[in-house]
Amino acid sequence: MERIGVLTSGGDAPGMNAAIRAVVRTCVYYDMIPYGIYQGYEGLIKNDIEKMDAGSVKHIIHQGGTILKSARSDAFKTEAGMEQAWENIQENNLDGLVVIGGDGTFTGAMRFGQKYDFPIVGIPGTIDNDIYGTDFTIGFDTAVNTVVEAVDKIRDTATSHNRLFFIEVMGRDAGFIAVYSGIAAGSEEILIPEEDRGIEKLFDSLARTSKRNKSSRLVIVAEGDKNGSVYDLEDRVKEEFGDRYETKVTILGHVQRGGRPSCTDRVLASRLGVLSVEGLREGKRDVMVGIRDRSVRYTDFEKATKQNPKMDDELLRIADIISI
Ligand code: ATP
Repeated sequence: MERIGVLTSGGDAPGMNAAIRAVVRTCVYYDMIPYGIYQGYEGLIKNDIEKMDAGSVKHIIHQGGTILKSARSDAFKTEAGMEQAWENIQENNLDGLVVIGGDGTFTGAMRFGQKYDFPIVGIPGTIDNDIYGTDFTIGFDTAVNTVVEAVDKIRDTATSHNRLFFIEVMGRDAGFIAVYSGIAAGSEEILIPEEDRGIEKLFDSLARTSKRNKSSRLVIVAEGDKNGSVYDLEDRVKEEFGDRYETKVTILGHVQRGGRPSCTDRVLASRLGVLSVEGLREGKRDVMVGIRDRSVRYTDFEKATKQNPKMDDELLRIADIISI
């Protein structure tokens, strides 16, 4: 194992740079040669590959985004695209690959690695925290802190005007951002894709707390919530309660992906970056490296992509109790 390629793929996440840095520096530490592949699998197909050294990753640990760029590559899903990628891997004499991304990235890595019998280790980098095999993914902590900061600000204006805010946060399939930020920002209700707790629960909650004369109400809604969009929710609350509440909608959007990675994300990314290269050196392949219960775990891509991490019912219970 002498020459290792590293790429970032799928949605970008704060902390990806710290992971790239760790991969590159670990290669240098072990006298191996790191190669940066630009724009995810697209760069593998287009041979957009560059030799790196310890200096190539200086001053990036604190930066959001990814210096290698990220992309969604439909071509990599085709036989022809994979074949081209394989030719470029051979041309650059790469012996292994580290891919940083989410579910889709690992599915691609699994197909490619098995087809060409090529060693690949994955690092979970996605703000959604929706990967089985690790307690946290790189980017989640930063994203959730960005949300909390924004919601705190919304609370100031909500309180000043006695308003009810519906705040949409990212999470098409997973409600981790919604649940963590909802608890941390003291929201009244949290609506997530995993649990269809029904609109009635929201109505009950509003009816119950209206007796308490609350000056502001914040409802955090993951974008994949089954009750419809935040605008649908606003309409349904208006139908149910008439003009009892002055409602507003905020969609936080892509601000959640950006910003300087938190300390937690930088440390996680650094750990996983080192472990991915060490894993390849030990002969690991077709696996994602993660941290569970404070221990290093390598999870087969097959399992990491097929299983979904379970939403923590205990957190939902706590959210319900403290929002009473
Ligand atoms: P995020 O969770 O942030 O969306 P992701 O890794 O799941 O990240 P995707 O866009 O789903 O993001 O996947 C990233 C890339 O992985 C795709 O653009 C494609 O190049 C590759 N990929 C996904 N599925 C496959 C597949 N079945 N076969 C080959 N490549 C795939």
